[in-house]
Amino acid sequence: MTEKLYYIDSHIREFDAMVISCEPDGDHFHVELDRTAFFPEGGGQCADTGTLSSVAVSDVQEVCGRIVHYCASPLTVGESVHGSLNWGKRFQNMQSHSGEHIVSGLVHNRFGFENVGFHLGADGMIVDFSGYVTPDELREIELAANKIIWQNRKITAFFPAPDELIRYNYRSKLELTENVRLVEIDGVDLCACCAPHVKETGEIGMIRIFESQRRKDGVRIRMLAGKNALEDYLVKEREALRISNLLSAKVGDISSAAERILTERDALSYKLRGYELRELDGIISEASTERERFVRFFDSLPQEDMLRIIKGVAPFCKSVAAVFSGSDEGGYKFIIASEHIALREKLNSIRPLFTIKGSGSDKMVQGSIFGSRKDIENAVGGW
Ligand SMILES: [Zn+2]
Repeated sequence: MTEKLYYIDSHIREFDAMVISCEPDGDHFHVELDRTAFFPEGGGQCADTGTLSSVAVSDVQEVCGRIVHYCASPLTVGESVHGSLNWGKRFQNMQSHSGEHIVSGLVHNRFGFENVGFHLGADGMIVDFSGYVTPDELREIELAANKIIWQNRKITAFFPAPDELIRYNYRSKLELTENVRLVEIDGVDLCACCAPHVKETGEIGMIRIFESQRRKDGVRIRMLAGKNALEDYLVKEREALRISNLLSAKVGDISSAAERILTERDALSYKLRGYELRELDGIISEASTERERFVRFFDSLPQEDMLRIIKGVAPFCKSVAAVFSGSDEGGYKFIIASEHIALREKLNSIRPLFTIKGSGSDKMVQGSIFGSRKDIENAVGGW
């Protein structure tokens, strides 16, 4: 049985141990030690990584009571190794997890709701509660959680004897009565948990609850604690400063400055559309005289504008009114209309010459055509 150093002291980051087994498995090795500070994945907290002497440990799992270190190279059974945790990652995990216990404890104390789902991932923590908490109430919980950090309360873990355990009122009640590990945050929370935690709440630094989403009968929140919360703050601050510079507005005013710009943009779009429609109507009125055909190419014209031209011009054409939008390289969208010739048959007659997608009625066909403008003009010019 491996001695769990992370239960003796959650801040052990270096240790010496003896290799008691080493078995190959695919491209890595399963190594067991007589003692370890590597926490195996559990309780929603991911596994520690680090090194054993110079060998990388990429994962640690508890399998049937055995703590297995996933190592990149074999280690010799009976030899002593020096373990070294990736402490930055472990400490951030503990900051997050202890932060989650504070928030879950406060929600439980105030509303009686249970934490029914916990995930500690790279982009923060997801916590599900069994009842709904409003965004305003979550703001209050967030402030209360940070006050507990400022008060630097003690966090302790212990294994009560089975007869003692029944006297405790704790969260995450387990069916088990033996080997139940309780994590206590002084005056705030008592919860069954197998993971290592920080020793004092001050180590967490800060807690931020970001967003909440109503779920069936409860709520899902996303939160960050410790260094992760600080890093997130720095990203947001950098982005806010960039926007502030771009908009020439104080950071506190960037949303109203953005709103102003969007309003201006909408007004300009409206004005621009007016000009576009005037130009389209100009094209239509210029072509509104009896003619054999109307064939016009545009670089980029929306479907509704193509249709507007076709509807305006087709009644004046003895043969066809055709509008194309696109390029020789990217192909053309087309709409072709005629009041006098059967278009489907005409379109089918040129299918062997081009790649054409689309069809329609005898009065109007539309779709896309791949070919050069010159070849298309020649083909349609004969209709
Ligand atoms: Zn926990």
